[in-house]
Amino acid sequence: MDKRGISRKDFLKNSGLGLAGIAFMPSILQGQNSHLQKDQTTALGNSYVLKNVRLETGFEFEGEEVVATKTGLFSVEIENGKIKRISSKATGKEEIDAKGMLMLPSFRDMHIHLDKTLYAEKWRAVRRSGGIKGMIALEQKTLPDMLKNSTYKAEKLIELLQSHGTGFARSHVNIEPTSKLDSLKNLQIALANKKNSFGAELVAFPQHGLYNTDSLPYMKEAAKMDIDFIGGLDPTNVDGSIQKTMDTTIQLALDNNKGIDIHLHESGKSGLDTIEYLIGKVNENPVLKGKTFVSHAFALAALDKVKQETIAEQLAAA
Ligand SMILES: [Zn+2]
Repeated sequence: MDKRGISRKDFLKNSGLGLAGIAFMPSILQGQNSHLQKDQTTALGNSYVLKNVRLETGFEFEGEEVVATKTGLFSVEIENGKIKRISSKATGKEEIDAKGMLMLPSFRDMHIHLDKTLYAEKWRAVRRSGGIKGMIALEQKTLPDMLKNSTYKAEKLIELLQSHGTGFARSHVNIEPTSKLDSLKNLQIALANKKNSFGAELVAFPQHGLYNTDSLPYMKEAAKMDIDFIGGLDPTNVDGSIQKTMDTTIQLALDNNKGIDIHLHESGKSGLDTIEYLIGKVNENPVLKGKTFVSHAFALAALDKVKQETIAEQLAAA
């Protein structure tokens, strides 16, 4: 591998995530500062300059090994929300001082449940409730209350994400007989209210099992709405069948031109069988390639190295 052409991903991988976290987090624009900037940029209108912005310009090497990034201070000119020019000299325009903080592309949170958060309410302890079936029973009791102000709580959670540099999320949304389509509708209002500064894609998620509870009619309805992925949950442990649940999930995606993103906590044979079944179906239906995802996928962690590599190649090909 050409070390001079190393990607940022390879750099982070080689240097260790812990170290990278320590090295980079103090430099990221924190909540207080980004709020300050929001007020200032509002006052300045659509065109302004950030001065003393730290940008990465290259890598520091020890021999062939990357040990740090080189940085410099720049002025970044913004017009209508887009970077227009980066220069090392003062521009003479109205400026906001970034005080040497590191500017990074915003993060994308690729698995979150914005629709059912307790954030912005009083703290409460996690309740142990007997595995996935226990969690479902607990949700059936707590969701009606949670839904009363879920739009407000989703907006507060989005603001928390933004304050730490996240500008986009893929959110799962409960679709089941308790919430019906209300969790989705409430979240869509929150996302509409935040659409100028926060992007999202949605996964319609039968959290209580597609068949374990009678969720399919609601999933069919949600699939026709403004969502991007058909979700799923542990087909063997919750619904009792890989084929029945996965075939319906895949058909919903194909019929409505959506992607797939399933929750798969099953760690043993049934987990691996589900992944292999899904790989086979994606190969049969190439339209699903590039837009089919398995969340958690704990089964992959328990495989021996040879099997793991085989599955990795099959996943990549699908
Ligand atoms: Zn999840």
